[in-house]
Amino acid sequence: MKLPLGYVDSEGTGKIRKIVIDSSAATETFLAHNLPDKAVSYATPVGLLAMMMIFDWKLGLICLIPAVIAFVLMGTLMMGPKMAEDMKQYQNALEAMSAEAVEYVRGIPVVKTFGQTIYTFKRFKAAIDEYEKWTLGYTKNMMLPMVAFTTAANAIFAVIIIAAFIFTSNGVTDNFVLNLFFYMIITSVLTVTLMKVAYAGESQMIVDDALNRMYEILETEPLPETEKEETPKDSSIKLDNITFAYENSSNNAIDGVSLSVKSGEHIALVGPSGGGKTTLASLIARFWDVKSGSIKIGGADVKNIPMNSLMNYVSYVFQDSKMLKMSIKDNIRMGKPDATDEEIINALHDAQCMDIIEKLPDGIDTMIGSKGIYVSGGECQRLSIARAFLKNAPVLILDEATAFADPDNERLVQQAFEKLSKNKTVIMIAHRLSTITNADNIYVMSDGKIAESGTHNELLSKGGIYNHMWNEYNKSVNWQVGKAGKK
Ligand code: ADP
Repeated sequence: MKLPLGYVDSEGTGKIRKIVIDSSAATETFLAHNLPDKAVSYATPVGLLAMMMIFDWKLGLICLIPAVIAFVLMGTLMMGPKMAEDMKQYQNALEAMSAEAVEYVRGIPVVKTFGQTIYTFKRFKAAIDEYEKWTLGYTKNMMLPMVAFTTAANAIFAVIIIAAFIFTSNGVTDNFVLNLFFYMIITSVLTVTLMKVAYAGESQMIVDDALNRMYEILETEPLPETEKEETPKDSSIKLDNITFAYENSSNNAIDGVSLSVKSGEHIALVGPSGGGKTTLASLIARFWDVKSGSIKIGGADVKNIPMNSLMNYVSYVFQDSKMLKMSIKDNIRMGKPDATDEEIINALHDAQCMDIIEKLPDGIDTMIGSKGIYVSGGECQRLSIARAFLKNAPVLILDEATAFADPDNERLVQQAFEKLSKNKTVIMIAHRLSTITNADNIYVMSDGKIAESGTHNELLSKGGIYNHMWNEYNKSVNWQVGKAGKK
């Protein structure tokens, strides 16, 4: 819970899910099942060794020959650092495949609607191929050592029969026959023990790998907590020459951006995809820390505002908002845990959600995600606006959805946005330029920089990128209207 929001965003839920569920399950299997086996596999050979030497040390030694060979094979070929590394790669491939599978399952509606196949999900296909490569490689590497080991471990019985023939070539004593029976019985125990040691070794490698993965998460540093706490004086925002690069990338996603927004002003971020709009907005909510420069809300550096207060100051309405599997009421209440039912209904009303509530069987007590009750993307965004209404934070970051299924929804979301934005400082990541013509300032982001800024009219008269975007936008709108008219 302490890790930066950006971490969860970029690691991918599939990978974290696998570690939380599978890796921790692996430690349970080890502790509950393999650890006792391991104790047995260490204790039994010692006891066996003593017994095998007591009755007939020659037969005892002969039994030990294949056992020693099996041990050596196991230690050198089946465990060693090379195998541990292979196991790690194998688990990595499994992890990648699991992460991609989650994405694939989420995308099934698209695949079905557009008649696509698994091959459209290139990354999933690549993950499966990679997994296949490692599984086959691992299996091939293990094939010979495993056959040799199993043969050696099971050869003890054969060796003892051959030895018996040799030792009895000059006649048989009763004592020898009794000893032979003893060794014939005891050798099967030796074989079973050797197999157990081998499996215990394998589960040790699996649990080591699982622990390493869990530590990777546990050792990730949360964003540093401040020692000199500051409280924002108002809801103005000031970015001073900030730069930011994602960990796995050498380019700056944000490259020297400065801007200031007065309390109550509404600004819009527009520009080509990949220009840095989302990154800039998420830096203001401190999903990550900037590499250089500073971000201030009401004069206080976001690094010095304790996380809880910052979250009370900033509401973020994401493009793909998530509803959890609980009642609508509890979902909305996340915006303000002590909200009364009346406050929740008011928020739903303000966020234009009443039509959603009316069609649900139990109104605001309906469980989302159960018995086939789901809300559409646009409805989900309106519900998350209701959350933001309840939270009533003075700074609002709105990520406008790129596409809505229907114009009704689009209109309702717009109305809800407008109402929510009143008396707040608003940063809107906009895709439809018509919604931001009244913004106090529009920033065109491109390649992590501010390419242009000004009001709608100022930018149009500049005749630059924005002007071009506006013309293109109008063309596409007219085209849609034209098409609709011809129908
Ligand atoms: P926009 O919102 O304008 O489409 P983004 O802020 O999403 O732009 O992206 C800016 C740049 O940062 C792009 O080059 C994108 O590929 C990169 N980027 C975005 N998110 C991540 C991430 N989690 N990890 C690495 N690079 C990222």
